Amino acid sequence: MFATSAACYLHQAQYGIRAPQVAGDAQAYRLWKMISELPPLSDHPTTTEMLRHLVSFDTTSRNSNLALIDFAEAWLRRNRIFTRRCFSPDGAKANLHAIIGPQIQGGLALSGHVDTVPVDGQAWTSDPFVLRQTDGRLYGRGTCDMKGFVAACLAAAPDIAAMPLSRPVHLFITYDEETTMAGARRLMDDIAESGLRPDICLVGEPSLMQPILAHKGRIAVKVTVRGSPGHSSEPGRGVNAVHAAAEAVAYMAAEARRIARDGPFVDGFDPPYTTAHVGTLAGGTILNIIPESAEFVMEWRFVPGHDADAEFAKFRAYVEQTILPWMHDVDPDTGFSYEVVGFLPGMGLPEDHALAALVKQTTGSNSTGKVSYGTEGGVYEAAGIPSIVCGPGSIQQAHKPDEWIEIAQLDACDAFIRSLVARYAT
Ligand SMILES: [Zn+2]
Repeated sequence: MFATSAACYLHQAQYGIRAPQVAGDAQAYRLWKMISELPPLSDHPTTTEMLRHLVSFDTTSRNSNLALIDFAEAWLRRNRIFTRRCFSPDGAKANLHAIIGPQIQGGLALSGHVDTVPVDGQAWTSDPFVLRQTDGRLYGRGTCDMKGFVAACLAAAPDIAAMPLSRPVHLFITYDEETTMAGARRLMDDIAESGLRPDICLVGEPSLMQPILAHKGRIAVKVTVRGSPGHSSEPGRGVNAVHAAAEAVAYMAAEARRIARDGPFVDGFDPPYTTAHVGTLAGGTILNIIPESAEFVMEWRFVPGHDADAEFAKFRAYVEQTILPWMHDVDPDTGFSYEVVGFLPGMGLPEDHALAALVKQTTGSNSTGKVSYGTEGGVYEAAGIPSIVCGPGSIQQAHKPDEWIEIAQLDACDAFIRSLVARYAT
């Protein structure tokens, strides 16, 4: 029985929403239940109050985020804001897409992810899922990366809704940013379907409220080498997978040095060129057996304008021309296989783009930083939505035990969001 708890009646009274009277109205019941179970919130919650709620949901990337999404959606709908969900393939996670103002194409999106990295094995001095306030800082998992920005957006929603908006303001709340960026990709597919597409997007990743125009992209590939076993006393009768892998790894190492020397170079990145790197390498069982298999994982972190696909194609061509021939001479069933385990497009907003000018004017900052970490802005830009990064807190505090954000940063973000929307959408 859903209507018997005192808390439910309290919320029902607080929000003026009654249980659906018509049996079988599943949609209305779901919404009512969601709103009736919303933790008590004041009419104009501060960003800190909102953040306290967001932090209380353990939305580590491996978990479902639906309880948090229920909370955010109920809050937005209580403020009569249109929302739309799209789910991960297994239904365990959802993106929330809210639109404030006119329900038309275009407008500005404010985007944040609500999944977080795990707290496993980290030495926290207090419960990571209970917001703790000390000396002007708020501690808790995700405070900085990046529930703080999402809390600021949710707290600002009623104020934004009260503005005379001529263009829509979208909120993107996404899943799986810390792992695969699948949430942002799913959201772009959903937007292609719904047609509710913003013109520009601001991603509130921690940047100390400085505009970030560009970041590197990344492609990560798992390479599996299939050899042919035999006794090590007769190496010519088998195909040594470790030798084949080692030749390919040596090629990557030489490529890394070549790119560092010859570029392309893009100023503002550290380092200012594409990096190539092999992170793991394994193969073989014991010394007197010709290794049958080997495996390594490699990546390129590429600067905007550098074609990562072309680098990967060059790698495959090298393997085909230089390594496969001697492997196939002994056994044609041997070879290399590839699995792309991560791909993030780079982000590169031109300095003279109107979005760059808008954010620079709003922050009063002329700096246009470039960073080496990736964001969902790359996914949005690849989908045709020019994006910029600007958000509260420092990336230095992200992913660490006792993660924190300064309240002053959230205050600055509160003012920034209202000013940005006023400049762009009213
Ligand atoms: Zn983040």
